[in-house]
Amino acid sequence: MEHSNALENQIIRFSGVTKRFGRVYALRDVSFGIRKNDFVFITGPSGAGKSTLIKLLYMGERMSEGYAIIDGMNLARISRRQIPELRRKIGVIFQDFKLIGSLTVFQNVALVMEAAGFKSRSMIKERVEDLLELVGLAHHADAYPPTLSGGEKQRAAVARAMVGKPKIILADEPTASLDPAASERVLQLLRAAHARGATIVITTHDRELLSRFDARVIYLENGRRVEAPDCDRGAEMQEPEARDDGEMA
Ligand code: ADP
Repeated sequence: MEHSNALENQIIRFSGVTKRFGRVYALRDVSFGIRKNDFVFITGPSGAGKSTLIKLLYMGERMSEGYAIIDGMNLARISRRQIPELRRKIGVIFQDFKLIGSLTVFQNVALVMEAAGFKSRSMIKERVEDLLELVGLAHHADAYPPTLSGGEKQRAAVARAMVGKPKIILADEPTASLDPAASERVLQLLRAAHARGATIVITTHDRELLSRFDARVIYLENGRRVEAPDCDRGAEMQEPEARDDGEMA
């Protein structure tokens, strides 16, 4: 569903974005806009290009063709020197958490603020403690990630993604390694970040997750943007037999 908002309301704009790895097209001619404070899912089968799209957004990879604007920054033209400025706008959450095992939970979260140039130890401490309280990990501040459960690790990663008050939070399959209760808690935290004004972009291949949210969904298939599979939305319009309950992967 294309929307007709003024372009200036869009915090993320992809136009004809293609990403190739050698001969493999991970994304082909993908266009979409995401408005400020949207809550959007990117979905599609394994290999559809979801992770690649997230990587392009935080400039873990550079696009091959097209252009993308993130909060006024043109990713096709951005210089290496400007990447930190882009990254300060964005918090990222990964399926495999990507916490540093040799640092405590507190240190993992504080590192983001240090890297962003915050000098005041007391300000960092206060902010990190607030975030750990929010995600329910205050009592694990001095724990090392390998000693935590998957859900706890992901909540630490959510705290890390939120600590710099980024405008955008990207989450790449954030619940794929978690049990349902832990997944629910992580999603609640992403909703809380959304309620505080952040724009949220989540990739998932989990249709059940999508069905529980009344959020906008962008579909990818073989690297291309496609219209919604009709089984996912507007279900009241369909015959139940028409639903596809098969695996997407
Ligand atoms: P998804 O996240 O939807 O599973 P990906 O974005 O990981 O999909 O991958 C999309 C396609 O791009 C796949 O065919 C994948 O093999 C390919 N691909 C992704 N990353 C690389 C890479 N670094 N090198 C080569 N091919 C890649």
